Amino acid sequence: MKIQDLKEKVLRGGNITLTEALFLAGQPDKEALYEAAHEITFRLADRRVDFCSIINARSGRCPEDCKWCAQSVHYRTDAEIYDLAHPDDCLNQAYQHELQGIGRFSLVISGRRPSRQLLKRICDTARYLRHYTSIRLCASLGLVDEEGMRQLADAGITRYHCNLETAPSFFPTLCSTHTQDDKIATLQAARRAGLEVCSGGIIGMGETMEQRIELAFKLRELDITSVPLNVLAPIPGTPLEHQPLLDDEELLTSVAIFRFILPRAALRFAGGRKRFSKDVQRRAMYIGINAAITGDLLTTTGSTSTEDHRLAQEAGYETDDTQADTLHLWHPYTSTSRPLPVYKVASARGTTLTLSTGQQLVDGMSSWWCAIHGYNRPELNQAAHEQLEQMSHVMFGGLTHEPAIELAQLLLPLIPPRLQKIFYADSGSVSVEVAMKMAVQYWYAKSRSHPGLEHLAQKQNFVTIRSGYHGDTWNAMSVCDPVTGMHSLFGPALPKRFFAPQPRSRFDEIWDEEDIIPLRFLIEEHADTLAALILEPIVQGAGGMWFYHPQYLVEAARLCQEYGILLIFDEIATGFGRTGRLFAWEYAGVEPDIMCIGKALTGGYMTMAAVLATNEVADMLSAQTPGVFMHGPTFMGNPLACAVACASIRLLTSREYDWQGKVFRIERQLKEELEPARALPQVSDVRVLGAIGVIELKQPVDMARMQRRFVDEGIWVRPFGRLVYVMPPYVIQPEELSKLTQGLIKVVKGI
Ligand code: PMP
Repeated sequence: MKIQDLKEKVLRGGNITLTEALFLAGQPDKEALYEAAHEITFRLADRRVDFCSIINARSGRCPEDCKWCAQSVHYRTDAEIYDLAHPDDCLNQAYQHELQGIGRFSLVISGRRPSRQLLKRICDTARYLRHYTSIRLCASLGLVDEEGMRQLADAGITRYHCNLETAPSFFPTLCSTHTQDDKIATLQAARRAGLEVCSGGIIGMGETMEQRIELAFKLRELDITSVPLNVLAPIPGTPLEHQPLLDDEELLTSVAIFRFILPRAALRFAGGRKRFSKDVQRRAMYIGINAAITGDLLTTTGSTSTEDHRLAQEAGYETDDTQADTLHLWHPYTSTSRPLPVYKVASARGTTLTLSTGQQLVDGMSSWWCAIHGYNRPELNQAAHEQLEQMSHVMFGGLTHEPAIELAQLLLPLIPPRLQKIFYADSGSVSVEVAMKMAVQYWYAKSRSHPGLEHLAQKQNFVTIRSGYHGDTWNAMSVCDPVTGMHSLFGPALPKRFFAPQPRSRFDEIWDEEDIIPLRFLIEEHADTLAALILEPIVQGAGGMWFYHPQYLVEAARLCQEYGILLIFDEIATGFGRTGRLFAWEYAGVEPDIMCIGKALTGGYMTMAAVLATNEVADMLSAQTPGVFMHGPTFMGNPLACAVACASIRLLTSREYDWQGKVFRIERQLKEELEPARALPQVSDVRVLGAIGVIELKQPVDMARMQRRFVDEGIWVRPFGRLVYVMPPYVIQPEELSKLTQGLIKVVKGI
């Protein structure tokens, strides 16, 4: 047996056995043990130190006889005695801690089990704290049943703390008034009530190393991921007052062993660490401590959060300056109570994102398809600066300006020739809303255009295909795939649309005529009520990253013609060259009646979209009462956005830029370098079109973990569901793209 082998076993996801843990503990080469534990910590555990804080919200007079504790009535100590702290005192501390960038705050009280009345007061305090702060709340109140835990959860507590304290075999010698099983029952009750749990212990109470290992194994068995590690600070008056102090090496070895046994856990420095030198504390962090209670402890003083942050940095951890973000900002598709980690970007240039830690990442996402020219592009910067000097905004009602006019002139030669009218909108989703409103108003106007056409006013509904994605606003949501679009929960509140199955004929394979039949049936049956068919042409993006056959569009357009339905193309994601054509409709050569563009319109600089419509649609709308299209957002046609969009289109279409050459080169390289992924057991499909490369996995990904792994590889990739994909800026260099593809494959291999 070797330390290295055991380290590899853990890194591969294996669990070490008792014999192996004992072997590690007995290793004379401590440095090798510490280094191995360090590697596990920095590869598998969180590399941002997770700081929390506590308040001793009720102190002393505890009926229990835990031999280490200053608050037991059985021992005469100097511990303070007071009843539940005033809510304002708790709030003050919580607020101060939140300001210092600490993510959690725990209400801790002495005693065996809180009475119903006390529990209610604690819940009231928790509600009070939640009202005025966002620091996440924990509680540590002794033994509590499931009903009590539910009350705590309702009040806003998200995590319950109850230490196992020591090895199951040692616990009875330290406490006779309750058992460790009582504590385990409490943790299980917390879990059943939906709370996270936190549990660890105290080392240095006279237990053997084998018993420490026993404690770590018990925590592993209970799947505890937040583990406070206290070192006994012998308190005068308690039975353990003369317990010999733990020496440095024992502390460090224990940390290393805990890390081997609990490779991903937050190993939390808690009480007793102050006794050790800063150097030893730093070593302990380097080896495996990646969390800490900061500030004062229950009956002993702790360290300040500034000291702790510095210590963490010196031990090689990333400083987390995103706590205020985590506590107050709502990120897309993210829980506020269990948010996914976010990475703070300090600057971006070309294809490189530079994090506030200084780490540089090759961007594989173009910031959700939009930054096609990369970041900080001089031509676009200049356009923004120049426009800023003129005006950043004027209303579009009754006024116009050069950037808006020039943008229209630049767009017209690029878009389907029939689309002669341009309506500027604020974002992709809004443009979809606008397109759908236009379609409904078109049929309304038409119904009034000639006697006998009144029935056309019923054409207010929409048909689309499964696995589509069109945005997150109300109507856009209604045409997203109800399952992959994540909108099913809105169920009956959303207008009910008609969904045909997703086309199965792949983009580059043979067209299967059967593919269109379900859409034909749907349209045949419901044409009377259908205003339009809405589709993402060729590439379905956020609904499944699927590339389908151009013939589907030809057939769909034919059906629309035959049954009198408008055709809307959503080219928000596919537009401006991403698929290898400037717009994806070109693959099929069929022109829609209405088309949405967005995302890359401003080269990713600003939010802007546009709805393009035929003269027929526009004329019909205008010919009938009310005679106007009723939509007019405040920031419509924003001059800054228009000016940058002009610069982006000029750049894209300039001969020297050669966007097509760039996209084809990316396509070729993606095809070549992603191909090996096809053979991996984790992978079910690999597909590439234009500057889009997709690896479809057999199982859904763990987004947080995978994103972390990508960051470790120096690349920025954000997977979703079973899909890991890249769509880099067109200006990516071959070696940067290789870094992306190699990183992708390496991370996928490791899941
Ligand atoms: N349609 C498609 C095809 C999209 O990919 C998106 C954005 N992912 C949207 C609409 C919505 O655009 P936005 O996020 O700008 O509202």
